[in-house]
Amino acid sequence: MQFRSTKSKEPEVSFKDAVLRCLPSDGGLYVPSNVIDLRQFFLYMDEGTSYPELVATVAPVLLQGELNPFSAARVAESSFDFEPELTQLDENFSILNLYNGPTGTFKDFGASFHAAVLEELLKNYPGAIILSAVRGDSGACLGRAFYGRRGLTTVMLFPSGQPIRGIDPAFFIHNGGNIIPIQIRGSLDDCQRLVKETINDRPFAERHCITSANAINPGRLLPQAFYYLYAFVKIKKRLPGGLFFSIPSGNFGNLISGLYAWKFGLPVNGFIAAMNANNPFGDFIRGREFKPRPVVATNSPALDVSVPSNFARFSSFYDEAPAVMRNIVFPASINDTATLKAMEFAWKKYGMLLDPHGAVALAAARDFFNQDKNSNEHIIVLTTGHPAREAATVEAATGQKVSLPERLALLEKEEEPVAVIDPYLGALEGLLTGCL
Ligand SMILES: *Cc1c(COP(=O)(O)O)cnc(C)c1O
Repeated sequence: MQFRSTKSKEPEVSFKDAVLRCLPSDGGLYVPSNVIDLRQFFLYMDEGTSYPELVATVAPVLLQGELNPFSAARVAESSFDFEPELTQLDENFSILNLYNGPTGTFKDFGASFHAAVLEELLKNYPGAIILSAVRGDSGACLGRAFYGRRGLTTVMLFPSGQPIRGIDPAFFIHNGGNIIPIQIRGSLDDCQRLVKETINDRPFAERHCITSANAINPGRLLPQAFYYLYAFVKIKKRLPGGLFFSIPSGNFGNLISGLYAWKFGLPVNGFIAAMNANNPFGDFIRGREFKPRPVVATNSPALDVSVPSNFARFSSFYDEAPAVMRNIVFPASINDTATLKAMEFAWKKYGMLLDPHGAVALAAARDFFNQDKNSNEHIIVLTTGHPAREAATVEAATGQKVSLPERLALLEKEEEPVAVIDPYLGALEGLLTGCL
């Protein structure tokens, strides 16, 4: 599979190059330039198929010439010691739980595969540095995904005021690990600028093989398509008719991965783009003018986004086939009260605790079903965050106390950075040269 920029000014690149470059230099985003039909594979898998098995089967087909089946099996086994979990609620609704990973959000699925596939693709290299600007949660997610990956030193730049949480200090470089958390005296923008400047310092970047990892890296989006296929494999025998997915959407990476799954042949009728009060992007989806508004704080904070960072990727689908897109993505907006009500409903009716993001998706799915009144429909609701991550909201809505499970306990623990530096390229490069 080849990748191109949404601005299409650069030649096509391989998956490996797209992942290593993270962003094309023309200011666009990488998108697949060709589509591969996976139906002959996943349509014939049964409910007994494990997640690593599915990944090990479809990944080498997508990445032919770059990842052979043996490598893919190694990547799949080493990325996924956690699985998506499908629970059917009733005839019309199921939940796809995506928060079983090490930091309790669906982002663990993309990050884990990204780290494992990089380790595999770079195994004949002397070593690489993964440089990223992060905040608390994204730092924890990357730290867990990249820890222990051979040859991949992982440098994370945290802005001032953002504690370093969720990473065991045993992972840090001075304790024998491969993780280097650095506090930058500046903002997240400063951190992002430093990442760009370091990569643009070609001699330095090439000497140390520096690459970047963030949530819009194609190495994270592609593997997110796998859990849509997996959910289908699990439910297909019980499907009465049309299949929909309801997805809590902030930067739209999750939903775009679902659209990739559709391109790979997933027989799906549509995707519900479940937003909270930050919903101006719904206008774009409806074919109207998109006028971004300032973000308002809600009780589903991961969806508090004004302009989705995947906007260019998302709109590339609309450039290609607007008449199709209008009938495949359905925007919904759920306010804070309805979010709490959906949490209460899920608890009372199904004995299920949902985090507010999953609740936004459930509320949107129920509204969609009630409008459509098509009793043949089945909607899979993606729950993206562990309820304990939003314990106060969960308790307010359901009266239930949720405690952080053992595996997530680390998320609350703050650690000291390896260094604190001023937001200048010289300071960062000097520090890196000293560390390596
Ligand atoms: C990041 C995140 C989302 C939003 O996902 P996007 O891919 O940005 O749309 C939803 N829920 C949780 C819990 C998240 O962490």
